[in-house]
Amino acid sequence: MLQRVLRDLVSELTQTIRIDSKEQFEGLLTFAKEFMPASAARLQLYKGERPIFDLYAIDEEVAKALGRRVDLKSGGYLIIDQTEALTTVDVNTGGYVGARNFDDTIFKTNLEAAHAIARQLRLRNLGGIIIVDFIDMAREEHQSAVLDEFKKQLARDRVKTMAGGFSQLGLLEMTRKRTRESLSHMLCEPCPSCEGKGSIKTTRTVVYDILREILREARQFNPREFRVVASPSVVELLLDEESQHLAALSDFIAKPISLQSESAMGQEQYDIVLL
Ligand SMILES: [Zn+2]
Repeated sequence: MLQRVLRDLVSELTQTIRIDSKEQFEGLLTFAKEFMPASAARLQLYKGERPIFDLYAIDEEVAKALGRRVDLKSGGYLIIDQTEALTTVDVNTGGYVGARNFDDTIFKTNLEAAHAIARQLRLRNLGGIIIVDFIDMAREEHQSAVLDEFKKQLARDRVKTMAGGFSQLGLLEMTRKRTRESLSHMLCEPCPSCEGKGSIKTTRTVVYDILREILREARQFNPREFRVVASPSVVELLLDEESQHLAALSDFIAKPISLQSESAMGQEQYDIVLL
């Protein structure tokens, strides 16, 4: 990996490459002296006490590159959503924009966003189709200045990109060549609770699922009793606010329904046991 970094990421703009392992440093130095002498001079062994990731706040930058929201200095922010088919980037002003400097504030936010988006695409290694929704700009010279700035920033990308102009709806469509996996695919996996959807059913929705399921099973089977095994929050709702519904169902099917709280169960998980 170290040799790959040296080959792929180091350019004439790179000032220093610091490594915190003596062994790795020496190995890479030998390699660089032979194959990339210009880079060899830039290699440095980091001997400091502080962990090198802390020194440069790398964990924070990675956390930002994995989050949906990226804050801009001007107070605006980006919302980046990655799906299988495409990535969308929505540019927002932070809060109220006064009427007086309305055009200028939006222009500045979009310029800053153009810079931040190009950087995030590189850091996240996003590939495929990307749709950018800059804030609507009334003046044509502002539109073309933002487009120019965005294309200038994209040109710094070592991965091939292609960007068109603004569509009638003010959207900017672009592509970035897919190379290896995106940062989030490398570092993360879908959440087991929501399976990547990003949200789970509310406790009340789960409660109504359970009540309908019991009704369905009561038509098919004839047990002595039904027992609901579910997460503590679902059981709590059944005991409290939804207790009348539960009692009414029990009367209707003429069977007792008991509850069992299972702390290991996720909110959407439940079992209906026939006793
Ligand atoms: Zn989730």
